[in-house]
Order: sequence, then structure tokens, then C-alpha cells
Amino acid sequence: MQLDLEDQILEASKIIQKGGLVAFPTETVYGLGANAFDPEAIAKIFKLKNRPADNPLIVHISSLEMLPKLVNNISETNQKLIDNFWPGPLAIVFPKSQLVPDIVTAGLNTVVIRFPNNPIAQQLIAKCGAPLAAPSVNPSGKPSSTNPQHIRDYFENQIFVVEGEPSEIGLESTVINALEPTPIILRQGAITQEQIKEVLGKEVEVAQKQTKVQSPGMKYRHYAPEAKLELIPLGENILDKIELYIKQNLKVGALVSSEIYNTLPNAVIAFDLGSKENYKDISANLYAGLHYFDSQKVDIILSESFQHQGLGLAIMDRLQRAAE
Ligand code: AMP
Ligand code: MG
Repeated sequence: MQLDLEDQILEASKIIQKGGLVAFPTETVYGLGANAFDPEAIAKIFKLKNRPADNPLIVHISSLEMLPKLVNNISETNQKLIDNFWPGPLAIVFPKSQLVPDIVTAGLNTVVIRFPNNPIAQQLIAKCGAPLAAPSVNPSGKPSSTNPQHIRDYFENQIFVVEGEPSEIGLESTVINALEPTPIILRQGAITQEQIKEVLGKEVEVAQKQTKVQSPGMKYRHYAPEAKLELIPLGENILDKIELYIKQNLKVGALVSSEIYNTLPNAVIAFDLGSKENYKDISANLYAGLHYFDSQKVDIILSESFQHQGLGLAIMDRLQRAAE
């Protein structure tokens, strides 16, 4: 029998306190949490995900009082980011305190922290009485989980899941390093470069894959479904490509906005991301689309492209990486 939410949170906090792992909802994607101060528990995250040891984890807090134990210093710039974007989908780089185990930060002298605004995440972290180091719930390299079913598809019943709604944003948090004179976005997300620029009142860069690797996770393959994903550039006709592949007897998946979904031939296995008038729907549905094509065992996925602006930048970032 399914426990009610309060009992799920209680059960999850007991597991965390005993050094175990639990999955829980956040507004970005579901997280796979362990006590951030317990190196043996953290090691279980790396093992379960088969995550490279040099890819550090984000630490999640449920109140600003948790910060002093985690960080050495809060710069004026970081304080501005906290004041404007927390709780929310922005993860911030801080100089780390000695109490944070090296395994969390992959030996770096910085730690990335986020204060999620999802109430279930907040209640769970508060109940644990400790910050939770938590990456997304997926084997390393695969699309993140945005609902409890995705987690069971990957890990069956290996981990206890606190069941929440499907993730509201559906893309991982924005990660920002504002310790440098010119702040740099290490990963794009729902908090955009424009928003951060406006709050800080100065230039903000976005890390490019080609430049020096700033965020260790950037060098790895990410968000990749089983089938090859081909991203059709804006302005090109996705229907022509679909027909071409169908003629080659391929089982084709189409990841498209509602506007295109409604025009597709029957032979296509299609996933409706929502109207392209509303990028919030597209981002919220994106990973469910990738999971769907894994379950349908298609030969190839053709995806529509979206505008490189606002939330579209993070959506395109994930699609481009999924296509690599
Ligand atoms: P994940 O939790 O798997 O969604 O990914 C966390 C992201 O944050 C990865 O891209 C990491 O490389 C990045 N990250 C975590 N800690 C740090 C850090 N101290 N410095 C730079 N990037 C970090
Ligand atoms: Mg991840």
C-alpha cells in the first residue's frame, strides 16, 4: 500500500540517516539524495549511477542556515544571487568548507549548492536535518527522470521514491560560477543568462563545450536516449526527413510540438511536447518524450528545433547533447 506523503518523507529521512539513498521530487528533475556529510552514502550514488568519480554533485539545502557548514565564504555577488533566485532552479558555486567530503566535490575546492523551491524536497531535507547531495536519478549519460515511473524504469525497486508530481520545469538547474570577475554559466537551465545579467548588473558568459572545461560534468555524454537522435534545424521540414526514413523501413520517432504533431503521418511514433507557443510545456515534457522513445524501441528519433532564446536555450542545449 502506498504511504501518504508525510509517512513517505519520514521513511525517506530514516533511510538517509542510516546512510542510504532516496529519490525525491524537485522542481527541476527528480534527485537521488544522500547525506552530503556521509562519504560512504555518497559513494553509493556514484556506484548506482555508474557516475565518473570526477563529476561532482550538487548539494541541496532547505534553509539558509545550512550554508555556513558547507561554504567558507559568501561573496557579495553570490549573496545577490541567493537573494534573487533562491529557493529556485539556480545552483551556485561556493568555496567549500572542510566539512564537505571530497567525494562530493570530486576533490575540487568549490561546492555547488541549490535551495530547491519544491515543498516536498524542502520538507524531506528539513526532516533529514542535513543537506542532501543529489544528482539526477538516471544511469550516468541517460536522460534524467521527471516522474516516479522513469525512476522505476531505470532502477526497478532498488531505491525508495518519495512520490511527487511530474517535475514542473523538467530540465536540470542552471549552474553558475560567480566567483570569477565575469560570472560564467556552467549549465543552462530555467534561470537564464538575461535574468542573471539583470540581477548582477554585469556581463555573464555561458561556458562553451569547446573552451576549457569549467564544469567537470560537461565533458561527458548526457541525456542520451537509446536510439540515435537527429535534431532537425529550424527552417528545415521535419516531415520530409520522416518520410525519407519511413521509406527506408525504419521505425521512426518524432519529438515535436503540437503544431507539427497534428500533421504527422500515421506510420510515425510521435510524442507531443506541447505548443511551441509555450516553452514551459516543451521543457516540462522533454525528458518524458525521450523516455517514451526508449520504451517504444524506435530506430531513430527526429526532433524539432526550438528558438535559441529564453528557456529555448536550455531546451536546445539538452537536445544538442542528446543528439551527440
Ligand atoms: P547533475 O547533478 O548530474 O545534474 O550535475 C551536476 C552538475 O554540476 C555537473 O555538470 C557538475 O560537473 C557540476 N558541478 C558540481 N559541482 C561543481 C563544482 N564544484 N564546480 C563546477 N561544476 C560543478
Ligand atoms: Mg544528471
